Amino acid sequence: MTDEELKDFDVAEVITPKHPLKIDDTTLRDGEQTAGVVFANTEKLRIAKLLDKVGVDQIEAGIPAMGGDEKATIKKIAALDLNTSVLAWNRAVIPDIQESVDCGVDAVAISIAVSDIHIITKLKKDRKWVLDSLSRAVEFAKSHDLYVSVNAEDGSRAEMDFLIEFAQRAKSLGADRLRFCDTIGVLDPFQTFQVITDLTKEVDIEIEMHTHNDFGMATANALAGVKAGAMWVNTTVNGLGERAGNAALEEVVMALKYVGSVDLQYKTEMFRELSEYVARASARNVPIWKAIVGTNVFAHESGIHADGVLKNPKTYEAFSPEEVGLTRQLVLGKHSGGASISAKFKEYGIELSSEEAQAILEVVRRVAIQLKRALFDKEIMYIYHDRVEKQKQQEKEGQSR
Ligand code: MN
Repeated sequence: MTDEELKDFDVAEVITPKHPLKIDDTTLRDGEQTAGVVFANTEKLRIAKLLDKVGVDQIEAGIPAMGGDEKATIKKIAALDLNTSVLAWNRAVIPDIQESVDCGVDAVAISIAVSDIHIITKLKKDRKWVLDSLSRAVEFAKSHDLYVSVNAEDGSRAEMDFLIEFAQRAKSLGADRLRFCDTIGVLDPFQTFQVITDLTKEVDIEIEMHTHNDFGMATANALAGVKAGAMWVNTTVNGLGERAGNAALEEVVMALKYVGSVDLQYKTEMFRELSEYVARASARNVPIWKAIVGTNVFAHESGIHADGVLKNPKTYEAFSPEEVGLTRQLVLGKHSGGASISAKFKEYGIELSSEEAQAILEVVRRVAIQLKRALFDKEIMYIYHDRVEKQKQQEKEGQSR
């Protein structure tokens, strides 16, 4: 089948963006808030540069009110003169925002809780206090010509009427967008779609999705929000972030492109490099099966899969490995088939007969079961050379007899 014909098999369009979609990456803020993670100042600068190079629209650089190194580094990031917008995170208090102004960022997030459990139990205040605090903070930020994202913390557990009132207040104060936070990751994609649909109906303000992965639905919920009209997605590299993490940048971007049909035109071929760098800087390993950037994502072992991929990669791959900076691997082990054996030897310039391939396959399977793993290329070559030696030996013995 030609590539043209195969296009008919591509996944149907399920997300129709009503707008140019944007990504605000918070690896440097929510990502660093992961328990036990600290980025060095130089690492923060490097991550900011890499994110800019990938093409994200905005980076959340940190929390200036923390002072010290954190503030100094945010100042340096703002001074890098990147293409991306640089946003700083703030509580809804004027001194925090003043610290952000001092850093020279062009955007601020002003965060305040909107669910009653947070307002009453954590803040020990009431809804009126929340709206008053928000008003003071946004007015101050706007008087400094900053782009303002109003963050509705724990928005997913807020009462809908109050969430709408909060969003309307943000809009009337001149805020540029509302960040809808599923702070503890308790929504599913269907609920998310409904909430964002209702919110966009009531209030004309750009919405950003901030979703957590406590039930493994962060990326799905971010996409559901986009489908309902959200214009921004807040992500982190590798899905780093509080507890189970946030929606992963690489997952959101690739899912938007291949599950939906929104191509953000990012340099996705940098994803593996970016993932490795953040993994090292955060001392959080990326599992080999991690969606999009795991090293096993384009590894094929089972006979049927490997045979399909050898005939046409689209049979078992949603997109090609080069698009995210990975390479395809044929792994030889317990589940391999003859086609993989032949293909592997072809890589080394050896053409096997189908009988030879079958004989080697039997040994490969036996050894893989003994070792409880796939075989290295070298081990496969040893099997081949042992076989050739044995044959020579047999021929010799035949002649001398
Ligand atoms: Mn968060």
